Amino acid sequence: MSLENVPEELAAERSPAELHERVHYPGGASKPRRNVVAFKFGGSSLLGADRMLHAAGLVRAATRASSVTVVVSAMKGVTDHLLSIARALADGKLVHARREAELVLLLHLDVLHNLQLSEHDDLRVRRELQLLGRDLLQEILVHGSVATGAELFDRLASFGERFSARLFAAALEESGVPAVPVTSSDFVLTCNTFRDAQPHLEKSKQRGRDVLLPLLEAGIVAVVTGFIGATPDGRITTLGRNSSDFSGAIIAHVVDADELVIWTDVDGIYTANPNESAEARLLHELSYDEAHALAASGAKVLHAKVLPLAAKTEMVVWVRNTFNPQARGTRIGTQRSLQDSRTASKDSVPICSISTQQGGAA
Ligand code: ADP
Ligand code: ASP
Ligand code: MG
Repeated sequence: MSLENVPEELAAERSPAELHERVHYPGGASKPRRNVVAFKFGGSSLLGADRMLHAAGLVRAATRASSVTVVVSAMKGVTDHLLSIARALADGKLVHARREAELVLLLHLDVLHNLQLSEHDDLRVRRELQLLGRDLLQEILVHGSVATGAELFDRLASFGERFSARLFAAALEESGVPAVPVTSSDFVLTCNTFRDAQPHLEKSKQRGRDVLLPLLEAGIVAVVTGFIGATPDGRITTLGRNSSDFSGAIIAHVVDADELVIWTDVDGIYTANPNESAEARLLHELSYDEAHALAASGAKVLHAKVLPLAAKTEMVVWVRNTFNPQARGTRIGTQRSLQDSRTASKDSVPICSISTQQGGAA
């Protein structure tokens, strides 16, 4: 699959009748409720302007039939880079840390340039990125007095997702989808175990709804930073390495999404890492327990913390390939709905499915 925008005709959504359920209001009035889907894009799906525009095409196709909230990782490699800056600081290498931070800003400015926005939008987003870059440099200059150790690591690591959310919102706007970046530390409330913070789910949900629901209702796609939260007194935390999947599940929970789609760089969950084992077989349907066992045994494709939350809320989770969106992916759901989909039809499809060659929903 090339990395251009996905052609509109590839997006085969279900009929509007299937996609809307009616929401009843006091007094008898009713209004159709659109399906809500949460899309999480991993770092490789966002690596560079072409990939961002391609991923934006998937969101655009989905918005034709559903309300969409997006969660993003940092671009691939950026979190490692930021953590190496934190290590350089810990070793007292201030000049090196500063130079590396400038490189991080330049990397994102380069992606912005390649998005080829209108002059006005380019100026606006450039300013946002430069402000973030300035904050990053400021962290480096004052690190000793403001934060230390694990807390500093989290403050620095948070910049990757903050940069990518701004760029991906710009890519969506460029693709004709109204979008705004949202920083999850504004509402994902966590404990103060830096580098492995536990979110307070219900408080985060209450706070997050105030931020995200008005956007959903207005048809604006929120591009939420994965990976990061904040303590009650406002200090930035991270939920652990590779945890943007978990953020995807948290945000899906906040907006009561019908489905969470984890978009990654393989066709779904396999019996083993497909990049390492020729015998790896794609798994089409998994229960939450089966998926949890695989994730807990180290399958990097899905963070283990997604599964208990998805199971508790009976949220359907799909793992799908950004670069091969025609593939159906792996579906994770309750045993009961798995049973239904196995017996009733082999065509259980994501809400935002992409048509197969036969022209129907995949
Ligand atoms: P993302 O950046 O999208 O979060 P990750 O690198 O975290 O992606 O996860 C995707 C990678 O997980 C795949 O490229 C693959 O190498 C690896 N992987 C490990 N185990 C499995 C598995 N059982 N099934 C699929 N992918 C796996
Ligand atoms: N960017 C973070 C990391 O590299 C979170 C994620 O990508 O899931 O760990
Ligand atoms: Mg990942």
